[in-house]
Amino acid sequence: MRRFRELAAGVLIATADFAATNSVAVVAGDGGCLVIDPAISVADLSGLAADLAGSGLRARLGFATHPHWDHVLWNRELGAVPRYAAPRAVTITLTERDGMVRQLQRSAPGHDLDLFGQLVPLPEGADAIAWDGPAARLIIHDGHAPGHAAVFLPDSGVLVAGDMLSDTEIPVLDTVADDPLGDYRAGLALLGAVPGVRWLVPGHGNVADAGEFRRRVAADTGYLDLLAAGKPFHDPRCTKDWMRDAHERQLRTVAGLS
Ligand SMILES: [Zn+2]
Repeated sequence: MRRFRELAAGVLIATADFAATNSVAVVAGDGGCLVIDPAISVADLSGLAADLAGSGLRARLGFATHPHWDHVLWNRELGAVPRYAAPRAVTITLTERDGMVRQLQRSAPGHDLDLFGQLVPLPEGADAIAWDGPAARLIIHDGHAPGHAAVFLPDSGVLVAGDMLSDTEIPVLDTVADDPLGDYRAGLALLGAVPGVRWLVPGHGNVADAGEFRRRVAADTGYLDLLAAGKPFHDPRCTKDWMRDAHERQLRTVAGLS
């Protein structure tokens, strides 16, 4: 994996080999860090912790963008600090834990299960992460997963989007929700309306500048429009079996609901 590198002043990003998963650290003036979605393998997380320590930095709090197995990881080397998520996301990590553990063991075995998914709910209605580092605004919605929270850093213009706006994955809807398409549209609209985005960090895929951010909003909107139309179609990002399966499931789900 590529270990932490500086994307903008005080914002570090690392990309794991597995599914091009991005981890972010936001650095406060005293070296304390907000660590978002550290991923993915045991060795990856040790590397991230070593990078921080080697730079005189330390995690002060963690944040999970959403309740999927690859976004709720942690290790002891990162320290015993509180790890937050939106309240609905925390609920899902509790109710879906067994399935998440199975996925974890299949794809990234060896993690300490005592730390897996141990999240603290943000106060209900919180619109920012309360800490003394750079401002970290929250954009919470239910597209892709319940309680999905993007983090926007207005000082640097970095939008940490979670599993939205990827150039390597199609939009993946939460097909067990009552209104998967409506939830995703609402989330995408919120992200598209964030002012001042200079850098987009997707949960999986390549970092984007402001122009590419707008292109991805348009691409995902186009995908949802085609899905709503209910006819089979191809998206150029749909290159893996699991995505082809998700794509077919989404077509069936949306057709069944309309
Ligand atoms: Zn996800």
